[in-house]
Amino acid sequence: MLIVMKPSASSEDIARVVERIAELGFRAHPIPGEGRTAIGVTGNKGPIAEEWFESFTTIAQLVRVTQPFKLVSREVKPDATIVDLGDGVRIGGSATFHVMAGPCSVESQDQLFAAADAVRAAGATLLRGGAYKPRTSPYEFQGLKVDGLKLLAQARDRTGLKIVTEVKDTETLDAVAEHADVLQLGARNMQNYSLLEAVGRSHRAVLLKRGLSATIKEVLMAAEYIYSAGNTNVMLCERGIRTFETMTRNTLDLGAAAVLQEMTHLPVIVDPSHGIGIRRHVPALARAAAALGCDGLIIEVHPDPDRAWSDGQQSLTFAQFEALMGDVRRILPVVGRELPLGARAPS
Ligand code: PEP
Ligand code: MN
Repeated sequence: MLIVMKPSASSEDIARVVERIAELGFRAHPIPGEGRTAIGVTGNKGPIAEEWFESFTTIAQLVRVTQPFKLVSREVKPDATIVDLGDGVRIGGSATFHVMAGPCSVESQDQLFAAADAVRAAGATLLRGGAYKPRTSPYEFQGLKVDGLKLLAQARDRTGLKIVTEVKDTETLDAVAEHADVLQLGARNMQNYSLLEAVGRSHRAVLLKRGLSATIKEVLMAAEYIYSAGNTNVMLCERGIRTFETMTRNTLDLGAAAVLQEMTHLPVIVDPSHGIGIRRHVPALARAAAALGCDGLIIEVHPDPDRAWSDGQQSLTFAQFEALMGDVRRILPVVGRELPLGARAPS
């Protein structure tokens, strides 16, 4: 159920309705929107009777939500959510398009600073880099852990780029949240419900990556876990799914990115790097994603991809990334978007 307040409703009026919802034993989720506030109601087992709210003259209408993902659906909140990371970095809704770029793993200060400088110069606004790496093999590099987080924070100080890095488990969540601007929840953890709930209680923005074989509905239900726990700064990431195809690492599902934008108000980001897993094909998919009208990209870039400690085969060189950003800059106006003003144009 969604309770839509009249545009004239004051914060006291909203608080009174929230109180009534709590009295009934349900949970209230106020959703401020353009011109009016709506209040999502969850926790009810059966239908909610309209009479229970009859005396509130400040309510405009009661709407039944038909989707199982209640709070993240467009049905509940038609206007786009903008994830505001501060310093003018606002992802979603508006006409700006944000690119998150950097190495798969943080390896050293030299490697990270070189990547940060290069991606910033080419127009990225966020730096990606894993400090805790969930690897398929226990014998592969597992990340620099806390030292990696510290290097990411130093790279932010150096460049002003916001930091996105993966949180692998609840044990390390506090450390990651202390250093990062955006908590990346990896594909392998999309249905780790205790982690979803824990990041839902965190005050940091979240980038939720689609599970290896998750349906669109499952992605939205995972986002609902985070959102309903109180964290409304959630972005979704299409990063390719596992299919029968073996020529590519994954199958990037751009259709899902289009459908997600219709179904949810949350920003949608596309990851062409994990989406195909082959360096020379990453730019084409990145261009296609930009043309699709999504809210941003996350791309792996490394100073020396052939020597990267993880995912080198899909990491772009600096020159490739710079060329790609030029293409993205030219494509975006077609879909009414642009890179943020502060993002430097490649020379
Ligand atoms: C990554 O971003 O390096 C990563 C591990 O991504 P995913 O969870 O999508 O595999
Ligand atoms: Mn990677």
